[in-house]
Amino acid sequence: SELDLICTGCGIGIQTEEKDRPGYAPLNSVVEREYPVCQRCYRIKHYSDVAPVTLDNENFRKILSDIAKRPALVVKVVDLFDFAGSWVKEIKQYVGKNPIVLVANKADLLPRSTNWDKVETWLRHEVAKQGVEVSSIILISAKKRLGIEEVKTAIEAKGKDKDVYVVGTANVGKSTLINGLMNLFGEENGGELTTSRYPGTTLSTIRMDLPTGRSIIDTPGIMTTHRLTDLVSAKSLRIITPETYIDPKTYQLNDRQTLFLGGLCRFDYLEGPKQGFTIYAANQLEVHRTKLENADNLYEKHLGTLLTPPLEQDSDLLRKLYTHSFTLKSGHPQDIVISGLGWITLRGRDGAQVKIHAPKGVDVHLRRALI
Ligand code: GDP
Repeated sequence: SELDLICTGCGIGIQTEEKDRPGYAPLNSVVEREYPVCQRCYRIKHYSDVAPVTLDNENFRKILSDIAKRPALVVKVVDLFDFAGSWVKEIKQYVGKNPIVLVANKADLLPRSTNWDKVETWLRHEVAKQGVEVSSIILISAKKRLGIEEVKTAIEAKGKDKDVYVVGTANVGKSTLINGLMNLFGEENGGELTTSRYPGTTLSTIRMDLPTGRSIIDTPGIMTTHRLTDLVSAKSLRIITPETYIDPKTYQLNDRQTLFLGGLCRFDYLEGPKQGFTIYAANQLEVHRTKLENADNLYEKHLGTLLTPPLEQDSDLLRKLYTHSFTLKSGHPQDIVISGLGWITLRGRDGAQVKIHAPKGVDVHLRRALI
């Protein structure tokens, strides 16, 4: 478009003329903004108001489906802090017979004591469960530039004579990874790498030259709406996004006790013996403990003050919580995942009846313990 602005939410070219077409944003909402976003992304972020599936999503699918039609290497990036939330379910149909290198990013967020072999085994297990074959799994921190060398080696070994497509949901760290990779590739070649933008039809992919003679292609990150991070305001996002190693917090709970993770999630321990539950969430997110019988009252009185986020900037939709009931099996450490917020682990061997309250639309599920 004439503006030459790209929506930082979905990667679409911003246009200011046609309201009903993808990429629309009012002119004054995007000029001279550090992070311009299209109206659709703005609404998703601030009002949880999800516009119907538009052309951009279809185009996204088209871009990805094209990968299957040619020899390519797919670098699929997932977020270790939100594995299921950042997994692209349709990946198999997109990549066809092309090999996939799975890159699990944001390893810097897991606790210092993490057993990485165990995490890798866990990932293998989850990937197999999805029915997807990957040629390798690489744990990295794109931000801290850890493990990127290994991704480079995988590209050199498996991506000869092929374009490399970097695929993943928005916010998993694709751009950060590509910048790191280009840095590594660039240094070795001592030259300037050509970066060019190909504004496709409505969604743009970004293509850069590799020393292999082929290109690395940053595909537009697919927008999701089931992660809490998709629904909160920018200010709350800063609070719920971990910046550094998570410090797990363990609470010894009796039955009929409740924990609040800010005011965005409530955990009720309904039935079972006294045992420890461990919270993995941003260190700056405050946890409050109370008796189950006092929980409704506390929520009503202190939402937005003691129990925060949500903040003023957040949509009222975050102020109504929906319940999910779970029976934790005995003998198996399990995580209850609140997509985008973190997870709660039960390591005890006795099982438990629990209930999670979370904003509407946020994916909440049980999984084998990651750590
Ligand atoms: P993209 O949308 O997939 O291209 O993701 P970006 O590269 O724009 O990154 C999304 C967010 O995740 C940004 O706030 C990054 O700073 C952050 N991020 C990227 N890589 C890492 C990482 O390795 N660790 C952590 N903690 N954050 C990361």
